Formats: sequence, C-alpha cells, structure tokens
Amino acid sequence: LIRLAAAALIGVLHVHHEPSHDSDASFPTLLAAAHDARLDFLVLTEHVPQDAEGELPGATRAGVYLAPDGHRLRILVGGEFGTRDGHLLGYQISHTLVPRDRTARQAIDEIHAMGGFAVVPHPFHYGGWKAWDAPFDGLEVHNNAVVLRSALNPLLPLRLLQLALSRDWALRSLTRRPDRALARWDALRRSGRRIVAFSGADAHQNVSLLGWQIDPYQEAFRGVQMVCPDGPLEPTWIWAALREARCSIRYAIHERRAHQAREVRFETGRIELQLDGGTRVLEIRQFGD
Ligand SMILES: [Zn+2]
Ligand SMILES: [Zn+2]
Repeated sequence: LIRLAAAALIGVLHVHHEPSHDSDASFPTLLAAAHDARLDFLVLTEHVPQDAEGELPGATRAGVYLAPDGHRLRILVGGEFGTRDGHLLGYQISHTLVPRDRTARQAIDEIHAMGGFAVVPHPFHYGGWKAWDAPFDGLEVHNNAVVLRSALNPLLPLRLLQLALSRDWALRSLTRRPDRALARWDALRRSGRRIVAFSGADAHQNVSLLGWQIDPYQEAFRGVQMVCPDGPLEPTWIWAALREARCSIRYAIHERRAHQAREVRFETGRIELQLDGGTRVLEIRQFGD
C-alpha cells in the first residue's frame, strides 16, 4: 500500500501580490485564499527592484494570521531577485541585496552572508537559469505559473474553453511530472551537490479575461504544496525543515488518485509516487528520508 509522507505542516512557497510590479492582488484576497486552502505557512517572494535597498517588499506582512475557524497561518517573507543569470529566490533573509547589476554568484554569496538560502525558480522559463555552477542551495522542480502558461499558450481558444467547461479536469490533465527539472536535479545530485527540491506556486493572480480570473490563488495554493513534518509554527523551524530537505513536494491536485500511485525509487535514493506510468506524479520525496 502506498503511504504518503507525513504532512503535519502544509505550506506554499513563492507567492506574489500587490508589492510586485506584476500583481494587483490585495493582501486580504491572498490571506482568504490561504485560509481557504488551510495552509499552515506561506512564503511571500515579491519581485525586488534592482535599486531597492533595506527592507524586503512585503516584509510587514510577516506574522501569524488566524482564520475564522481558528486555524493558524504563518506568513514568512523572502524575495525574488533579478540576476544576469536568471531569477533567484532568497529565503530566510533579513533584507534586500546590494542594489546593483549582479551575477548569480554575487546574489547567492549575499544571501548566504545573511544566513539565508538561495533557490533557483522556473529554471527553463522566463529567461531560464544560466549559472549551474553557482553555489545555489535549491531548485524549483515544479512551478505552477509554468503549468498555467502551458495551458494558455498553444491553441489558446480551445484551452480556454476546456478551462471554462471543466476546470478541474483541465488542470489535472495539464499538471504533469516536471521531467526536465527532475532530470536536472538528479544530475546535480549525482555530481555530489546537496541540492534540495522545491515546488513554487509563483502565484500572482494577475491573469483575467472579461472579469474571469484565470489564475486564482485558491487553485495555486491547493494544487501543489510542500508538506513538512510536525513542529512549531515558528520561522526558524519552518526554514530549517525546508532547507534541510525534510519536506516533500505533494501534488494535492492528484491526491484522490493515491490508490493508483506506484512507488519509484531512484538510484540516488529519492522516491517518487508516480501516476499514469510516470506521466504524472503524486509526491516527490527528498533524499535520505
Ligand atoms: Zn521569476
Ligand atoms: Zn515569481
């Protein structure tokens, strides 16, 4: 029988709202969606303008928020930075980077100097990542905005019709195993690097058509999540669980098919719970658990 990873704390990383140049979504909207998805933690990563100095955009939102039913949500704040080599997420950092035209390596060094860790988001999209030798700590193997983009690019009217008519079905069929990013992760691990895998919502709630919201937060927050073992809902504990690879990636969107999943163990020791002969995946577990 397939056993899902223990999921005491459920969270979503890489979320944008109003402070980012490309999102108008308000904080109350974001909060309501996070409560609705019963998240325990959420990590804001606003786009940080290159000339920004000091406090991270959205920093004042950090804290604990009580849902109407009493459920507690911890909001943590990181940032998404532009570098010459691609976008980079800074987690567990206290302030922005030195304002300058920076290489990936410079950005990562600054993040490390603050005691934080650096994660490469969407490695093959939005300009991609060019500094594979740089000492980053994590790789986003799933990025939800990339999935939505795949829905909206080819055959746009047909896809939109599918989304409108049977949204759940369309999203489940579009949410596939991220083959390319997983292959890259395996290659990095085989080369001896201790890279941790992450899922990123990359949610902006910024695509609408005639008043119809195509990318609602609720779906991004419920679709693919990081599931972590039990612990206090404190920033230090959550950051440590994430950076020490104690959390798994859970495709909650496929969870109702858990009985069909097949456990596949990779040579590097990591485990996937696969569906549809490996076309889709229910869970991705890190190494050594
Ligand atoms: Zn990005
Ligand atoms: Zn982003």
